[in-house]
Amino acid sequence: MAKAKEGAHSPAMQQFFRAKEQHPDALLFFRMGDFYEMFFDDAVIASKALDLTLTARSKGIDGREVPMAGVPHHAAASYLARLLEKGFKVAICEQMADPATVKGIVPREVVRVVTPGLALDPDALDARTDNALVAVACEGETFGIAALELTRAELRACTVSGGAAMLAEVLRLDPREVLVVRGGETHAALARALPKARVAEHATPADRRAALAIALDDAAIGDASSRLSGAALEACAVALEYARVSTGGRAAIGVRAIEPYDPRAQLALDDTAVRNLELVRTLSGDRAGSLLALLDETSTPMGARLLRRRLLAPLADVAAIRRRHDSVEAFVLDPERRRALRRALSEIGDLERLATRAELGVASPRDLGAIRAGLRSAIGVVDALGAQHDEVLAALVPRDVCEDVESLLSTALVEDLPLVPSAGPVIKDGIDARVDELRTLSTSSKDVLLALEARERETSGIASLKIRFTKVFGYYVEITRSNLHLVPSHFRRKQTVANGERYTTDELEELQSKILNAEDRLKALETEIFEDVRRRAGAEAHRLRALAFRLAEIDVHAGLAEVAHRRGYVRPEVDESLSLELVECRHPIVETLAAAGSFVPNDVAIDAEAQRLLVITGPNMAGKSTTMREVALAAIMAQLGSFVAATRARIGLVDRVFTRVGASDDLGRGQSTFMVEMRETATILREATRRSLVILDEIGRGTSTYDGLAIAWAVAEHLHDVIGCRTLFATHYHELCELERTRPGVRNFNVAAREHQGDVVFLHRLVPGASNKSYGVAVARLAGTPERVLERAKTLLRGLESGATDAAAGAKASLRERVRAEVPQLDLFGVAQPATESVAPPPPEPSEVERALRELDPDRMTPIEALVALSKLRSLL
Ligand code: ADP
Repeated sequence: MAKAKEGAHSPAMQQFFRAKEQHPDALLFFRMGDFYEMFFDDAVIASKALDLTLTARSKGIDGREVPMAGVPHHAAASYLARLLEKGFKVAICEQMADPATVKGIVPREVVRVVTPGLALDPDALDARTDNALVAVACEGETFGIAALELTRAELRACTVSGGAAMLAEVLRLDPREVLVVRGGETHAALARALPKARVAEHATPADRRAALAIALDDAAIGDASSRLSGAALEACAVALEYARVSTGGRAAIGVRAIEPYDPRAQLALDDTAVRNLELVRTLSGDRAGSLLALLDETSTPMGARLLRRRLLAPLADVAAIRRRHDSVEAFVLDPERRRALRRALSEIGDLERLATRAELGVASPRDLGAIRAGLRSAIGVVDALGAQHDEVLAALVPRDVCEDVESLLSTALVEDLPLVPSAGPVIKDGIDARVDELRTLSTSSKDVLLALEARERETSGIASLKIRFTKVFGYYVEITRSNLHLVPSHFRRKQTVANGERYTTDELEELQSKILNAEDRLKALETEIFEDVRRRAGAEAHRLRALAFRLAEIDVHAGLAEVAHRRGYVRPEVDESLSLELVECRHPIVETLAAAGSFVPNDVAIDAEAQRLLVITGPNMAGKSTTMREVALAAIMAQLGSFVAATRARIGLVDRVFTRVGASDDLGRGQSTFMVEMRETATILREATRRSLVILDEIGRGTSTYDGLAIAWAVAEHLHDVIGCRTLFATHYHELCELERTRPGVRNFNVAAREHQGDVVFLHRLVPGASNKSYGVAVARLAGTPERVLERAKTLLRGLESGATDAAAGAKASLRERVRAEVPQLDLFGVAQPATESVAPPPPEPSEVERALRELDPDRMTPIEALVALSKLRSLL
């Protein structure tokens, strides 16, 4: 921004500079008449972001031009939405008075600052997704996380320990905007993962108290202080303060309490699992094709949002999960009730966000009309639920349907409501004596007007004489040229038009001021009463939201029942065991893409004992990934409260799902494939517990064969021996099948394929035992590899398989020897060797490379630093 001497500017530009100074990090929408104008850098940035024409204003600095771009104020909402989508913060500077009534310059003020995480306008929000603002603060290794959902007036907070757990939770919250309190650790880790995070200043204990005191009463502060860590309190204070400033400090933000929560009380899904399992969007970023899109048969926006929240935070409590299944089951078993219920729900609308709009004073008359319609339909939902004789359904009935609010809105407001109160009528007749009187006055004046018109017509003898009205001119009598000679003397000329003259009279002017005056007063009065009704409805927003939540729950259960019915899902048994048994399990998404009936269901059983690590081999494209993912999806679906795609399912509670799937490159984040793979694997080894479910697909592929096999082997052993979690391990290293012989909990499976006349036929069937062939050549043929190359590959393969001493076989032998030599402690091929006999060699003196390696901390390195370190290590060899 060009810094300028205020004196050199027009008064309007001086106002602009003052406003900009208060909000340097926001784009400033500066209201000038019918436009919001932006100047200087703001204009350049916005013109690019919004495809606006960049113009210039000449009265800028010392008469020089300044860049300018503008958007019409009536279309501002959609431009604003686009800016928020791109992560901008926008300060809205309004004209604080009607320019027509002010002498000199119109006063202007920033009335609110809109940021992505604090958006309230439906244009700037996705109706089916939450819109959280997350703030993070740290005290050493303890992190406080606050999630403010302004549209729900909800503030939740938790404390986690360690940067990795913090990052996982922040990403799981899927925030629209992140604030990071200045402080070494948090800042660095989040800035890497979320480049758009904003920095907030540290809040001292005094700042915290002040920020909390503005939103919460003493009891709520006392409660929060006793239940939250210092870091969590600081994060809450920072979020509240940010929201308060954004409303210009004028409006309350509806939050009345802080809800502490414990991320460990839910099935933990980190960013990697959410992404790899395509829970809310596919790997290419689309909602369509995700699990959420498949499961979302909800009929209300808040139902859709609740389902999404539940999908990203499934339960880890058997009783609570069973309660959800009970509800879904009730709706599965009664299709008639389900249909009626879904029909009634579809009439509800977004009661939750509308309630908050009323509470924050931004609801339009139409919004209140929508709340009223929603409340009327809520009665229909309760009827359709018909819970009288059913314990499960009775538990779902909303206890409070807010009849008083419905009655307030029905009594006061007309049925067909306008967008703005001044475009009335808004208030019903008979509610307010002053409104009634002004309305009579305005109708009776109109009668008087008609009488006057008739009288003037008669006295002048001009048969076509008519009193007309325009907004600019008010009331007038128009006389055509041919009748001008008949104009009576008490007519005063106002204006000449093409085909005649326009006149007024004393009587007409008097009447006009009466009518216009009455209309203005009526508008003002209707607006005032409307605002009062809105305030009274807004005061009940917490009850409206509680009702909205109950309706959303019914919606989620009924929607999941609909999916279960359509797709033939089964109610899973969930218990505290460490087993996982799926009979005829399908991948819920792949099965919808396959031709009808062509998806091959599979049985999978894992337990914590004899069958805890399944090594799955089989050719590429056989269906290994699909099978493993479907197991993970079944667990997640079961624990979020859904039925699952199987004919029988028993799921011992899972505390966390880990995935290391495919070679999905993360180059977008500047990390090499192998680095990503190893990071993800390291997280699993560090954090998995006996209750976790681990899906590993092809680990070790990003490096040389020896390294890869050695790492895969060691990882499998660790998972089996030390952690003991349920693991599905798909691999190309057939050597890993040896583990079955030495480890009691390892079982080999393969996804069957058959070779038929040189072509491979995939059966997609998971069967016990190791796969004896990899069919690589056959798959290469499927992929269109030239015949000559295929022939050569076959010859080499034959040589390898027969152990012939040709070059290729030699290579394989030397591979085995090197692996054996390099990782003797892994007992790689020690089939005949009992474990006790394998004596580990004495640890050698650490080499220079090892020492250097030990000093590295991959968790604290950027990808570039990692590469630099790698090349240094190499130079030490
Ligand atoms: P792999 O991991 O063994 O390379 P995938 O799991 O990626 O194989 O499966 C490859 C393709 O095979 C999938 O895209 C899917 O279309 C199909 N497929 C996988 N499993 C099945 C199944 N059980 N029934 C039918 N088709 C399947």
